[in-house]
Amino acid sequence: MKSVLLKLGISHYLFWALAFTPLLFCSCRPGSSIDLPSGRGAGPAIRILLLAEVDGPVAVAVEGPVAVSTLPDGAVAWKGSQPRLAVQAEGAGLSVAGLSVAGRSVTGRSFAGPVRLTPLESRRFSLSRQQGEGAYRGVLDVFNHGGKLRLINQLPLEEYLAGVVGKEMSGSRFPLEALKAQAVAARTFTLYRLRAAMQGAASLPLESAFPATSEFQSYGGAACETVPVLQAVRETAGQVLTWEGKLFQAYYHASCGGSTASGALFNEKDIPPLHGVPCARCQASPERRWELKIPLAELERALAPWARERGVKLGKIQEVQPVENGARGRSRYLRVVHAAGRFEIRLDRFRQLLNAEAPNRLRSCAFTASILPEPALAMFQGSGFGHGVGLCQSGAAAMAAGDRRSFGELLTHYYPECGILKVY
Ligand SMILES: [Zn+2]
Repeated sequence: MKSVLLKLGISHYLFWALAFTPLLFCSCRPGSSIDLPSGRGAGPAIRILLLAEVDGPVAVAVEGPVAVSTLPDGAVAWKGSQPRLAVQAEGAGLSVAGLSVAGRSVTGRSFAGPVRLTPLESRRFSLSRQQGEGAYRGVLDVFNHGGKLRLINQLPLEEYLAGVVGKEMSGSRFPLEALKAQAVAARTFTLYRLRAAMQGAASLPLESAFPATSEFQSYGGAACETVPVLQAVRETAGQVLTWEGKLFQAYYHASCGGSTASGALFNEKDIPPLHGVPCARCQASPERRWELKIPLAELERALAPWARERGVKLGKIQEVQPVENGARGRSRYLRVVHAAGRFEIRLDRFRQLLNAEAPNRLRSCAFTASILPEPALAMFQGSGFGHGVGLCQSGAAAMAAGDRRSFGELLTHYYPECGILKVY
């Protein structure tokens, strides 16, 4: 990858300004009184992409001593107490400002390749408001990616899960047992994907990481941890879901709208834990019924990249209809009839395309669709929120609160015939 020399000027000014500007540590650390497992009990290291490409400098705040190491060798290049560091691209490498030398004035230091910032005691760092604001556990790896900065947070699985469960089930409406079920599902999902990505290799390339968004799993770092969230992760530490002794993709979603969908929606193997089940308890969810109307021209624009990829010449859309009803009335495909022909597109892919510009406007894959002629609109009437496969978060919350179901009961309801196994 070609590196781009950063021009001096505004960015240079910002570099130094950030190094000396006080950064606020995230004040939201209500769960910090509960310890998560450490050592081997903390699970494998997980790498999460906080920002793929951001203009530097990036300001990093660390409480207590911090080490700066070069990557990939991990050699410590600098160690000391410096509450504020600023990193920016410099040629093909990086420059880190804020490293004091022998107690003398703060200076910048150049590195030929990527660096790792390791908070040695606090084991936390914070990023500034403009650059992925928030507090995170673990270490921060910074790469020069063609003149932009790529930020990857590496931390043990159990600590990562606290940032996932806290983000996925935020707010007091989620009882402890629902949080525990979510922790086990997210742990299973992560380990499954990690093993699939590694394909037997000892490690992954340094720059590869899972997204911090719902494209993988929503991750909010330490900022969204609460006491119940930490308790849920700690009390289920190392526990995963299995079917016939193996991990499976333990999908989950916000609200199913009355019944969960089959994993066939994602072309998953048809296994009992992902068949789909009735879910009476998310009926009270505000997502139970929804309606979306969008201009046909906008729908055509959203479908254009998909059609282009497949060499489909897309004409004016005349009809849209979910087809191939699976179990419990769920469809897997959307049939699109247009002036130049017809095609079918997988519903989850269709939802992704429609939501690319306006997140969550098509709330789920469970809908009926029609075309309204004047003005030319596509109307979708649906239920639920999310893809509908696996654990229904709203239903699990209601079952834990109203029916006093344990996390194990919640998991065997939403993933029938699953086993629960402690793997570390
Ligand atoms: Zn439900």
